[in-house]
Amino acid sequence: MDKGKIRKKKDGSLHVPDCPIIPFIEGDGIGPDIWNASRRVMDGAVQAAYNGKRTIDWLEIFAGEKGFRHTGEWLPESTLQTIQEHVVAIKGPLTTPVGKGIRSLNVSIRQKLDLFACVRPVAYIDSVPSPMKHPERVNMVVFRENTEDVYAGIEWESGSPEAQTVISFLHTKMGVALPDDAGIGIKPISARNTQRLVASAISYAIVHGCPSVTLMHKGNIMKFTEGAFSKWGYEIAKEKFGKCVITEDELHRTYNGVQPEGKVVIKDRIADMLFQQVLLRPEDYHVIASPNLNGDYISDALAAQVGGLGMAPGANIGDDCAVFEATHGTAPKYAGMDKINPSSLILSGAMMLDYMGWNEAASMIREGIKKTIQAGTVTYDLARQMEGAIEVTCSGFAENIIEKFSG
Ligand code: NAP
Repeated sequence: MDKGKIRKKKDGSLHVPDCPIIPFIEGDGIGPDIWNASRRVMDGAVQAAYNGKRTIDWLEIFAGEKGFRHTGEWLPESTLQTIQEHVVAIKGPLTTPVGKGIRSLNVSIRQKLDLFACVRPVAYIDSVPSPMKHPERVNMVVFRENTEDVYAGIEWESGSPEAQTVISFLHTKMGVALPDDAGIGIKPISARNTQRLVASAISYAIVHGCPSVTLMHKGNIMKFTEGAFSKWGYEIAKEKFGKCVITEDELHRTYNGVQPEGKVVIKDRIADMLFQQVLLRPEDYHVIASPNLNGDYISDALAAQVGGLGMAPGANIGDDCAVFEATHGTAPKYAGMDKINPSSLILSGAMMLDYMGWNEAASMIREGIKKTIQAGTVTYDLARQMEGAIEVTCSGFAENIIEKFSG
């Protein structure tokens, strides 16, 4: 069996050995519970799909509380290096140590490895309880910019000398008057980072046959950051994908509102308006590209439409490597209780297997989750929304999925 590291080839595709080494970070809080469940499901699906011809060689790497206990560091350099060398990794959620001079370990991982696209698919799995009348109409993928906007935000506390300096600079040099006791925040949004994010969202839409890409922004208020995100998005769409895309305006003016075959429609929506649109007309939205903060909000809200955070997978993808992880955090009140829903990380694992080209195992996982939920065996979060459900533990839920692989 071909064993070793996954490699990125010159053309950007992956060379995946039959037995790839995949680094994992267990995570804090509920991390160990959902990681153990996910690992068993992934191993079970790979075994069932490839009958021993393929297998995963898991390599533990450290970060967060376990990282600190093992190495004295919250995010050891060796962890980042190992992810880079192995190209594909998976992680549980991490707590950010309060008052240790680190904004967030998760943000640091994304920024240091330049994982510029946070990709969060939101699709309804049959039988999952949902507040929507037609949750089956929700089928979107959020591409959230992962390195700037509030992730690169700079803040100065109200009354601090730094805040006073900025207020006085704005007053004397820019003619802008701000209250003396204002806290100050700056958020950068750049053309380069916007365009590579939007380009990856459009490439995804083209490859997966999605009808539209929506640029989500608050450009009516913040013209040179949020508004520029939309403007730069349209520019790259035309420049790089001219033959494959049309704008919404062209759709109506040139094509009478009938979408031509093989073209992706590029449109933009003001962020607040998009929140009501995804509730009322979810079928009109397919790929959403957004700056960091908007993407954070919309992906959690969309997760609620298809069963909640326990059902929300994700990936952080850059040019050199990718780290797969659930959308949610460490849910500390459930830590160690073997209670939480592991589907978010299990589905992130399925995304990882698809990314590696192991689509058969990924499909088995999705089918296994669907059958388990259809049988009414679910964790507490879904049980409280489903009449007559049988509540199972986190590990019990994984066990139920694995049983479905053989029958
Ligand atoms: P959270 O950990 O996502 O949990 C909030 C609530 O969401 C939970 O109490 C639970 O709701 C529900 N939930 C989350 N995961 C679930 C799952 N797998 N199954 C079922 N329900 C689930 O958010 P938080 O409490 O705001 O954040 C806690 C810590 O996580 C913070 O330190 C934060 O910085 C960190 N965080 C890390 C990441 C990451 O590692 N990528 C992401 C976000 C936050 P109920 O109480 O209603 O059951």
